[in-house]
Amino acid sequence: MLLRGTMQVNPAGELEIGGITASTLAGKFGTPLYVIDEALFRENCRRYREAFGPDNRVVYAGKALLCTAVCRLAEEEGLCLDVASGGELYTALKAGFPPERIYFHGNNKSPEEIRQGLEAGVGRFVVDSLYELDLLSRLAGEAGKRPVILLRLTPGIEAHTHEYVRTGQIDSKFGLPIATGQALAGVRRALACPNLKLLGLHCHIGSQIFDLEPFREAARVMLSFAAEVQAATGWFPEELNLGGGLGIYYVSGDDPPAIEELAAAVLGAVRQTCAELGVPQPRVVVEPGRSIAGPAGTTLYTVGAVKEIPGVRLYVMVDGGMNDNIRPALYQARYEAALANRITDEPTATVTVAGKCCESGDVLIQNVRLPYPAPGDILAVPATGAYNYTMSMNYNRLPRPAMVLVKEGRAEVIVSRESLEDLVRNDRVPDGLWK
Ligand SMILES: *Cc1c(COP(=O)(O)O)cnc(C)c1O
Repeated sequence: MLLRGTMQVNPAGELEIGGITASTLAGKFGTPLYVIDEALFRENCRRYREAFGPDNRVVYAGKALLCTAVCRLAEEEGLCLDVASGGELYTALKAGFPPERIYFHGNNKSPEEIRQGLEAGVGRFVVDSLYELDLLSRLAGEAGKRPVILLRLTPGIEAHTHEYVRTGQIDSKFGLPIATGQALAGVRRALACPNLKLLGLHCHIGSQIFDLEPFREAARVMLSFAAEVQAATGWFPEELNLGGGLGIYYVSGDDPPAIEELAAAVLGAVRQTCAELGVPQPRVVVEPGRSIAGPAGTTLYTVGAVKEIPGVRLYVMVDGGMNDNIRPALYQARYEAALANRITDEPTATVTVAGKCCESGDVLIQNVRLPYPAPGDILAVPATGAYNYTMSMNYNRLPRPAMVLVKEGRAEVIVSRESLEDLVRNDRVPDGLWK
């Protein structure tokens, strides 16, 4: 298993994160436990800021990992924040995140969510459809506001990633396609809305992308479109938002470009294309989620039942599963793992790590090499910082795990473990149900 961030192996052969052994964390806070390496999260934010430079903007995509403490980390590191619902917006505002640095996304914002964004004074609405354009224009008029907007477009790019996380192709629920003329129609309509200030254009081509070429291609397609728009209308985007999507290392064979390589590719393509087209260079905005939060998170589980089916499979059951990490079940995502309490022991077994949900598909990892596991061992699954907690659920009425932030030997709870009482908090039994 690859050691990331502050992970190290101590002299006793145990895994440490942020200067604390996994078994100490498990003992103190229980399992399953989401552990976030504060130093690595901040380092990833800083690398993005430095690589893209002061003229451009880095927007942390909150859907990867969001709670009030994480908002504060992103805020302190000088990032903007992408929210995609009223709930994410509420979380950001609760954390005191400056509203002018918030980008409000979403392909079907409700009137209530739009009003919430207008009232908060979010910095940008990223408008996804002509319907939303009209709705936002009307609600802005009613509120006496003139929000700044970007239009989300689909540039028609097929990024090589799982089809569930591909978003740049024409057949997508997100954005206005350039190829069909709807993008140009959207720009014209936005320019005609006196209540809206059209500042720029947005696209997001997908997630967990290892190849830099689709990012360069997105920049070229978007700028070519912008040049056409300028010729047709005289308007040119001040801001070009190219979304997120940089992949991370999960398992051996994954070879993502570095943040600095992404920045060089994107900024280089923008510079070159603007020169070729003879258009001004817009501010470049990127929206990384996974590549900031993903590597910073590790989930700790306690091993329970170990079930060997001779000649077939060795199952190791952990005390979490698809409830805290849906990604393997949702899109065959792969992970590494280690026995954190004896990480230097020789791997002698090939095991399948299964969760505790009533679903045969509740398998976290197929065929991982581990020392022969025993009940009570602590299993660490790294790279779970993104799209784990934010996609977690209560199937089988399992309470959601706690999340702790670790740094220099200290651990602080940033999301409490759900209690059994939490699980029934919103349940109601109507009067007379039993009669
Ligand atoms: C999901 C998403 C992102 C972040 O994607 P990552 O792959 O996590 O970097 C950025 N922008 C938009 C609009 C998104 O939907």
